Amino acid sequence: MTTVNVFGVDIDTRHYINGQRVAAKDTYKNTSPIDGSFLGEFARGDAADADLAVKAAKAAFPEWANMGPQKRGELLFKLADLIEENIEVLANIETLDNGSLLRSHRRGVMPRVAMNIRFFADWAINQLHHEPFETRGHTNNVSWDPSGVAVLITPWNAPLMLATWKIGPALAAGDTVVLKPAEWTPLTASFFADLTKKAGIPDGVFNVVFGFGREAGAALTAHPEISRISFTGSVPTAKIIAHAAADNLTPVSFELGGKSPLVVLEDADLDLAATLAVEQYDNAGQVCLSGTRILVHESVADEFAQKFAEKAAALKQGDPRDEDTDIGPQIHQVHFDRIKGFVDRAKDEGANIVMGGGPNSDLGGLYFKPTLVKDPTPGSEIVTQEIFGPVLAMQTFSNDEQALEMANGTEFGLAAVVVSGDREHAKKITDKLVAGTIWVNCFFVRDLRAPFGGSRKSGIGRDGGTWSFDFYADVKNTVFSPNGWKE
Ligand code: NAD
Repeated sequence: MTTVNVFGVDIDTRHYINGQRVAAKDTYKNTSPIDGSFLGEFARGDAADADLAVKAAKAAFPEWANMGPQKRGELLFKLADLIEENIEVLANIETLDNGSLLRSHRRGVMPRVAMNIRFFADWAINQLHHEPFETRGHTNNVSWDPSGVAVLITPWNAPLMLATWKIGPALAAGDTVVLKPAEWTPLTASFFADLTKKAGIPDGVFNVVFGFGREAGAALTAHPEISRISFTGSVPTAKIIAHAAADNLTPVSFELGGKSPLVVLEDADLDLAATLAVEQYDNAGQVCLSGTRILVHESVADEFAQKFAEKAAALKQGDPRDEDTDIGPQIHQVHFDRIKGFVDRAKDEGANIVMGGGPNSDLGGLYFKPTLVKDPTPGSEIVTQEIFGPVLAMQTFSNDEQALEMANGTEFGLAAVVVSGDREHAKKITDKLVAGTIWVNCFFVRDLRAPFGGSRKSGIGRDGGTWSFDFYADVKNTVFSPNGWKE
């Protein structure tokens, strides 16, 4: 069987290489986190498949690079249109594959997927310009040249959304692409490959290799003929990829994990603070940016906790396809067990678990109750390690210095949320926080013009606007002398 019918659509389960479907020697089984139902036997890529895909991308590179930003942009606009025409299908198959809410896939995520492609097409055509500047009569001309084959490795928590953050700028910059989606969520990448073909993107420009990280992923990232590696995933995997990249000095962009603080100052609107805190359970807590450490000023801690408890109690857990569901399942049994392990160990250590604390026995399967641990032991793993599930920790502080010390007391630096009713006070805190993105009195507002990425162990490099092109392209300065011309 080379296709699987999901939501009435035939999804090809083979690799997409050089515009063709290519079977692998072996396959692996993909299931839905909603109910464990079977979603197909997907190609299990190996080193030979990775090599075939890189060679195809390399062969397609000169034509794509020489096409220029205008023509490339037009094809990418066509691709964005096709994504928009298929939002309902994409939303449904993504929900079946990764268990995130259908309503957010429909209204937020998939429209954003189209935007990821459209935005970077527009930038390549219209925005990527640096005014020439003079040095003693010499003119400096800065340009962004295509670099070669970009290998993109993506996680399962927002599969097509995170893939297109990379695919958009890589293709717009004139690179050709080999994508390896996460093994637990191959469906939308396969459907997307068909859309690239329909959009008229030449064969070999966009390729997909399915399979496991330690097999297909390792072979792709170690390949000597690639020009870039862009990876979103965990810190341990990033370290392995960094070693593979080092052998070929391949430039890397890493978007990694976090253990972000949500800081509630004593002057905060506590209703807003509680609403924002409860939002950290979004996507069943499987969001890299989540403010999982809630730090509250001691003078407002009780009132905040009460408001939080009321709002959290109203969350409905269930089938992510239901319109009124707020929290769906975790992605996979392996991940579910990892989350449960963190909570069980915290219980063994006597942690004060005031909400949730285990599987939702009414639902069974991979549904883990939204959980809150109050006053965890400082330095314990529940406050230092990324759990990537619906588990929040609440701690109190007594002054700004202590709040900053606690907020910054982590090896990560991806994001932070600050809630305050006083602009000056908020600014005093944000100036000293270490994070790639800080939201004040809001969460998850992300403009593609803005830089996105993590400090410390949360990443290397930034995405968005010119930052994306600075990574995927070879940035070049050409200096024209005023002398030597025959005119
Ligand atoms: P992961 O690191 O296990 O896997 C991510 C991808 O890497 C998958 O495609 C996997 O197959 C591949 N991979 C695994 N081993 C590999 C290897 N040796 N060589 C090459 N590729 C390999 O991460 P995950 O569990 O899929 O995702 C969760 C992690 O991703 C969390 O840490 C989360 O914070 C992070 N994340 C970060 C962002 C961000 O923008 N900063 C966004 C989403 C997720």
